[in-house]
This record gives sequence, C-alpha cells and structure tokens, in this order.
Amino acid sequence: MKVLIVEDEDAIAEPLREGLRREGFDVDRAATGAEALAAGAADVVLLDLRLPDVDGLTVCGELRKRSNVPIIVVSARSEEADRVIGLELGADDYVVKPFSPKELVARIRAVLRRSESARADGPDVLRAGEVEVDVRRMRVSVAGKPAELTPTEFQLLAALIREPGRVFTRSQLLDAVHGVAIESYERAIDAHVKNVRKKIEPVPGAPRYLLTVYGVGYRFADA
Ligand code: CA
Repeated sequence: MKVLIVEDEDAIAEPLREGLRREGFDVDRAATGAEALAAGAADVVLLDLRLPDVDGLTVCGELRKRSNVPIIVVSARSEEADRVIGLELGADDYVVKPFSPKELVARIRAVLRRSESARADGPDVLRAGEVEVDVRRMRVSVAGKPAELTPTEFQLLAALIREPGRVFTRSQLLDAVHGVAIESYERAIDAHVKNVRKKIEPVPGAPRYLLTVYGVGYRFADA
C-alpha cells in the first residue's frame, strides 16, 4: 500500500514518512501541490491544506477528478471551514494537526478498508460449483453443508470465488487477506490455501475448486 504525503514542511513530513514506513506502508512525498498532481498513483493521499504553491483544496478537487484514491485532509485546528470544503470536494476523512502517528495510521487503515469494501461491492452471495460464500454473514457452505473458516481463510476464499478463473498471485491474495502485501509472508498464503482446501474440497489432495497455478498463485475453478 502506497501513501502519498503532500506536505511542504520537512519537520512534519519526515517523521511521518518514517512512522508510516515502520507500519509497512510505501511512502512517496510531494512538497508542493504541483508535485502532488505530478506524482504517481497512490493507495491513499495525506493532503496538507497549506501548500506553498496551490491551495490544498484545489489539489483535493483535482485529485478527485482523476481518481477515487482515498484522500485524508490534514489541517490546522483553525481551518475548520476548509476541512468541510475538503470533504465536499471528495476527501474521505481529515485529521487535525497536531495528530499522533497512531491516530493517523488508524485513519489510514479505516479509509483503506472502506475503499476496499466499496470496491468489493457486488452480490452478497457468491456461488461456484457447490461452494457458496455469503459475504455479509461470512458464511461458507459446500453442497449445503456449512464449512467453518477463519476470517483470513474466508477473505482468501471470497477474493478467489469473486472472480472464478482469474489467476491471483500470492502477493495479490496477501493484499486481499491483510490489506498489506509483505513479500516474505507470501508463503503464508500457501498455508491458508491448504487450510481452505481441507474445509471445502471433497478431496483436498486433488482440489476441484481452489486450483494451483504453478509458478504464479491460485485461481478458483471457473467451470
Ligand atoms: Ca503546510
């Protein structure tokens, strides 16, 4: 997950960058509005409203025209009117300076979760073969019989069955499961897959639903 920090003051931006890195985020920084608009794609934008070149609100409106990237407006306590305008311009949330890194990380994760579930908008119950996944209730059944999956296993299965036939890399599955891809944990996906297979496959050793794509990852059977 990449965070774009738009902030002109080093004293604020640099500790923030370090803190977010420690939390596992990739971080890009733009020191001006122009840099922010020229920056590459990010998963979430932290946008200071007081920038040296363009008004932060203008940047907010411009970013929103281009994409649905979650935007968190960062403002001073005195800028309440600006915060409201920011939200009207399509910002997802705001934090007020001074803020604790902990609070900010929590806000970032919340915004990312929301955008995730918005993307996942679709049917509540997914079916493929005899496997049925009730997304809202987090229930799985196979041939009418309930299967008990852990939340992680559930997220994994839901991601796969949402798009039968689509090949997912381990890194993409890790994203679906935790929201954050950490390369070294990709093998953990294999363990989760094994567990899901035990629970949904008639013959776990010869999977019918959750198929391995050698050298790439996994896919849910599309036929
Ligand atoms: Ca500033």
